[in-house]
Amino acid sequence: MRVPMIAGNWKMNTTVSEAIELVNEMRQGLDQIDNVDRVICPPFISLATVRELIKGSSIKLGAQNIYFEEKGAYTGEISPLMLADLCEFVIIGHSERRLYFNETGEITNKKIRAALQVKLKPILCVGEKLEENEAGRTEKIVTGQLRASLAGLGYPNGLIIAYEPIWAIGTGKAATGEQANETIGLIRRNVAKLCSEKVAQDMRILYGGSVTDANATEFMKQPEIDGALVGGASLKANQFLSIVRQTSEIRGRSSRGV
Ligand code: PEP
Repeated sequence: MRVPMIAGNWKMNTTVSEAIELVNEMRQGLDQIDNVDRVICPPFISLATVRELIKGSSIKLGAQNIYFEEKGAYTGEISPLMLADLCEFVIIGHSERRLYFNETGEITNKKIRAALQVKLKPILCVGEKLEENEAGRTEKIVTGQLRASLAGLGYPNGLIIAYEPIWAIGTGKAATGEQANETIGLIRRNVAKLCSEKVAQDMRILYGGSVTDANATEFMKQPEIDGALVGGASLKANQFLSIVRQTSEIRGRSSRGV
């Protein structure tokens, strides 16, 4: 049984007071929706405050990044141990981190291991660039990213994958439901090879890239897609609520929902 999941990646947006305001705008509405895991990933500086604000609510909390060392002289970094107390999920290997902060497959692998060690659930992002997509290299790129990030992990308990084609992130040009479904099917087959068939069948694989309240239904209707990682639209309470609601309506009562 895969419980659908909608995760909001707030990226480098919202001050602490704006984060409080946004959570207050969406909390009540989210608490009225069943059968979908709803996760928000605010910036690090707001995690502790938001954690207090969502106590007793249905909202779960995630971070946007992590460092792989436990502690020490790594100025400016945040360790798994620090996050384990604060949240349940952590985004790893987002394309913006790969692009602007040189994160490689080897680094994402170390980060996933470090997160799992303290029982944080990683949301691993993979996806191809526009030119790679146009050259028909999506399968090769995504498979390579998975091999590097999942190397030696065996049974990565709680790991979630988000397929995020880079050309669809923040561009307003989402993949089609069929395109996303096909690549997510490919990801699941790769997870079966790299980990096990059981891990692949249990794993939630999300789509991310310009998901809004206008196209959410198209993705949630696809059999391989277990939810969405949402950037821009997660900063608007009514949009995020609508995406979670549509997911609940379509997937919540299906055989794979709770
Ligand atoms: C993201 O940042 O993971 C993302 C999918 O962004 P957007 O929804 O804005 O395309």
